[in-house]
Amino acid sequence: MFIETQTSFGYTESVPTELMASREETARQIVDICHRLYERRLVTATDGNVSARLAGGTILVTPSNLAKGQVAESDLVEVQLDGSPASGQRRPTSELGMHLFIYRQRPDVGAVVHAHPPYATAFAAARRPLECDVFPEVAAGLGRVPLARYGTPSTGEVARSIAPYVKSARAILLANHGVVTYSRTLEEAFNAMEKVEHAAHMLLITRMLGGAKALTSRELRKLSSAMKEENGTASAAEKKGRRRQKH
Ligand SMILES: [Zn+2]
Repeated sequence: MFIETQTSFGYTESVPTELMASREETARQIVDICHRLYERRLVTATDGNVSARLAGGTILVTPSNLAKGQVAESDLVEVQLDGSPASGQRRPTSELGMHLFIYRQRPDVGAVVHAHPPYATAFAAARRPLECDVFPEVAAGLGRVPLARYGTPSTGEVARSIAPYVKSARAILLANHGVVTYSRTLEEAFNAMEKVEHAAHMLLITRMLGGAKALTSRELRKLSSAMKEENGTASAAEKKGRRRQKH
């Protein structure tokens, strides 16, 4: 069984329901992502928040005011898509509004990660968008990483600031604040966060060397058709695999 969703890129994408893990497995993955965010210094102390959409449509999210290096599965909070509580003892993250806004706007999104990675946040504080047409893996894997205008953290301003970009991006710089990434799975959303931070780090180094040279439009077109071919082969192989599993 597949959920048919319309992506921002104008084609229908099938999100396999098997990508949605059980509540227990999702909780385990959220805790793992929180610990990795902390260990890799993409957040400090109680910064950042992580959430995932559960098969029943509710959202499992990290609580407010808890260090990401110490989050345990029992600390997570479950909420409805309108923000009303479903289960859990703690208060959900104060950035819940931004997470819910993304889930409501993007039915194809299964996970959201918000962090304050130092290099990417430095770009956001300097209000410099990332030049995403420099590294092929960033151009192909993330596309454009826009810079949203400043919104006061923990208020509805943050959701409003990402509104112009949420349907076309999967990673957004939040001015003077940090980064939000989202994708089908927690692993993909975490990888996008790492990719943004790594790209920001490399771009900063290129500035010491006189600045990065962007890929030409011909090189980007070639990259795009190579990716389409690669994705076409991958999805054909995936479908074949699923057909085999059914028999
Ligand atoms: Zn934040």
